[in-house]
Amino acid sequence: MSRVFNFSAGPAMLPEEVMRQAQAEFLDWHGTGMSIMEVSHRGREFMQVAEEAEADLRELMNIPDNYRVMFLHGGATMQFSAIPLNLTRPGDVVDYFNTGAWSKKALNEAKRYARVNIVAEHATEIPEPATWQLSDEAKYVHYTPNETIGGLQFHFIPDVGDKPLIADMSSCILSEPVDVSKFGMIYAGAQKNVGPSGIAIVIVREDLIGNAREDCPRLLDWQVQAEAGSMDNTPATYPWYMAGLVFKWLKKQGGLEKIALVNRRKAKKLYDFIDGSDFYHNPVRPQDRSIMNVPFTLANPELDKTFLAESDAAGLKYLKGHRLVGGMRASIYNAMPEEGVDALIDFMADFERRYG
Ligand SMILES: *Cc1c(COP(=O)(O)O)cnc(C)c1O
Repeated sequence: MSRVFNFSAGPAMLPEEVMRQAQAEFLDWHGTGMSIMEVSHRGREFMQVAEEAEADLRELMNIPDNYRVMFLHGGATMQFSAIPLNLTRPGDVVDYFNTGAWSKKALNEAKRYARVNIVAEHATEIPEPATWQLSDEAKYVHYTPNETIGGLQFHFIPDVGDKPLIADMSSCILSEPVDVSKFGMIYAGAQKNVGPSGIAIVIVREDLIGNAREDCPRLLDWQVQAEAGSMDNTPATYPWYMAGLVFKWLKKQGGLEKIALVNRRKAKKLYDFIDGSDFYHNPVRPQDRSIMNVPFTLANPELDKTFLAESDAAGLKYLKGHRLVGGMRASIYNAMPEEGVDALIDFMADFERRYG
């Protein structure tokens, strides 16, 4: 069996080492004679897995003690609703940056519950702070540090004064160190950089917990879930376990500072190659480009189908861009080996020689 390089935006590649470990202990977890997915979430075995995962994540991200960490159902999208339901009353104002497709989904959901003020809007560059329209009454400020579809990334943390800053880190969590203390709340669907789908990581500063609306669904109430250790109902035990294995793998790689160096090197190679060619193009302002998701177009879109067919045959999978932007997209999360990026660049250079 040979593994391919899978550039899918999510669910995405997982580290081979992690997959092999999961395979090795699939039927018999640590000599128990049971799979970890077959045991009670309240039993000794799974509690150990759950606690270690949280401790490892806290260590990796250096999460301060006054933040609660939760592993919840519903992906990032469920938090689009949970955020206004936990932090506002009807009629309250909330601030949202709109830098692309995921920002827009988050703010459209918030509109069902609160009055949304758009702080700034742009899809291919991060708007200059001097142009931001933050509102005085906003209950929080929400942004999407990395736009998975557009490939646009904030490479700094927005300064929003003393307002709680909320970040959808679905496609950039654990890709580089981040100062958690600057945030009110951080959330991320797991299936990009953390593990399989089915779980979201939710990190909330304690003072923001306990203010949910009366009619907030029980499972979306952060206080309920924090008090229940994310087990108010049965959690997604297997994705939680897999996330825990990925955290241990990341620690073995040297943590977030080390993985960030690799990630920046991988991204720079690919962008340098794209910029050095007239055949490929990336539309994002260079200083705002994502280190995780690299969209690119071909000068001649009639070649798109050929590019996708040939790259697929060469073992470079899922390079098709999102339907909203077209063209191609290479997602190069933590688990994408540097050789995968090298193989992609070699293929792109060869394709350009043959068709350019
Ligand atoms: C993938 C993604 C989402 C949606 O995640 P789900 O877990 O499927 O709800 C939200 N925001 C961003 C930035 C994403 O990349």
